[in-house]
Amino acid sequence: MINSNLIPTSLTQGLPRNFFDELGKLLAFKSISSDTAYKADCKACAKWLIEFLAELPGLEVRPIETAGNPLIFAQTKQRPGLPTLLVYGHYDVQPPGDRDTWLADPFEAQVRGERLFARGARDNKGQTFFWLVALREALHANSLAWNVKVLLDGEEESGSSSLLSELKRLVPELSAHVIAASETAGFDSADPALIMGLRGAAILRFSIHGASRELHSGNHGGRVPNPAVAIAQMLGKLHDESGKVAVPGFYSKVQPVSPTQRELLAQIPFDSAAYARNIGVSELSGELQFNALERVFFRPTLEVHSIHSGFSGPGIKTSIPIEAQAVLSMRLVANQEPQEELDRLVSFLQSQVPVGCRVEFLMQRAIARPTSADPRADLYTRTGALLRKFNSKAPVFLWSGASLPVIAEIQNIVKAQPLLVGFGTADDNEHGPNESFLLGQYVKGFTFARALLETDYSGSFPTKVE
Ligand SMILES: [Zn+2]
Repeated sequence: MINSNLIPTSLTQGLPRNFFDELGKLLAFKSISSDTAYKADCKACAKWLIEFLAELPGLEVRPIETAGNPLIFAQTKQRPGLPTLLVYGHYDVQPPGDRDTWLADPFEAQVRGERLFARGARDNKGQTFFWLVALREALHANSLAWNVKVLLDGEEESGSSSLLSELKRLVPELSAHVIAASETAGFDSADPALIMGLRGAAILRFSIHGASRELHSGNHGGRVPNPAVAIAQMLGKLHDESGKVAVPGFYSKVQPVSPTQRELLAQIPFDSAAYARNIGVSELSGELQFNALERVFFRPTLEVHSIHSGFSGPGIKTSIPIEAQAVLSMRLVANQEPQEELDRLVSFLQSQVPVGCRVEFLMQRAIARPTSADPRADLYTRTGALLRKFNSKAPVFLWSGASLPVIAEIQNIVKAQPLLVGFGTADDNEHGPNESFLLGQYVKGFTFARALLETDYSGSFPTKVE
């Protein structure tokens, strides 16, 4: 349990008095969704959140039982004329991994220095909790300027399969003008940012087969196809010399970087030489006609993650392997459809199989759609101004090269504008050992969420949500 008396008040000014006592209780649940051994812990965590929400005045709470962990849906009394905000968060966490890599019990939150340490401190219990507390404060003050809906997922860390399978059925309940989530981070500092776009993702595993048995390279080499060489040749054709992906049609739906995007990008203090030094390469690569930020934020990419073939034990075995395998992934940008790009990639690979070899597609999966938003829209200019209050120097508008599958899917199906605002910092180590969150970021998150909930955005949305 957190001892609130030990938390320096200078770092937590502005938060309700019992904020960390309650957060400590939420963080104590071992709500690990990827391991069914923790199903009861996930349920207990959901129950705690349901009870928390049920105490909020005027909030109607509805747990949604699923084959997996419960979903939690809540909404304020819907008042006509107000825009609707859907707040998404998740109460499940990543497994802590090896206990020895943690300085203290991952499920017993502890303040050390300026940070709160616990599994979920950032991802996503911590960043969900400040929204819920902000909602509570606004309801108590009777100052809410939105119709608010809350959706809490119990399986985000393991693919949100229950939510995704229920999603179409839930559309009437989830309908909103805006879907807000705090899952992301600011740019290399404690200054929060609005993420205006995330890339989509798709993965593919394939194998190349040669002869039906392993063959002696002296007796057979030179006249039989070698799958290891074949796969290397095929992978070598995925990009052309200028760094572009060579799959025909891969860029056909990609929009040029807009002048607004360029202008906002120019405000991001990114030093590509320092970045290259930091990751230990002499030069960066890729589509060199785009700068290093554009390549990650606005350009689709294709990467090879693994190549396996032949004997990998100690010593050397000079035989010709019967098979080679590779795993590839694509990161996709606005307008690209993951399944469509997978189809293009599959037909390109089929066309490149060397003579005598056979290709087999072992797995292909559309992981996430891309999301994108126009920074000139009213929602973002106004929210940007709210955020700038905490943000002295860093840019308020950012993009991310990564993906948030479930949020992209909800946004796509519900047709809400995404409001992805992240208070994370580079040292939070979410998913790793000793996950933590700066105390001051809870203050910023809470203060921002409350300000947003109390700001009148009516007039910012052309379409009506029933
Ligand atoms: Zn996570």
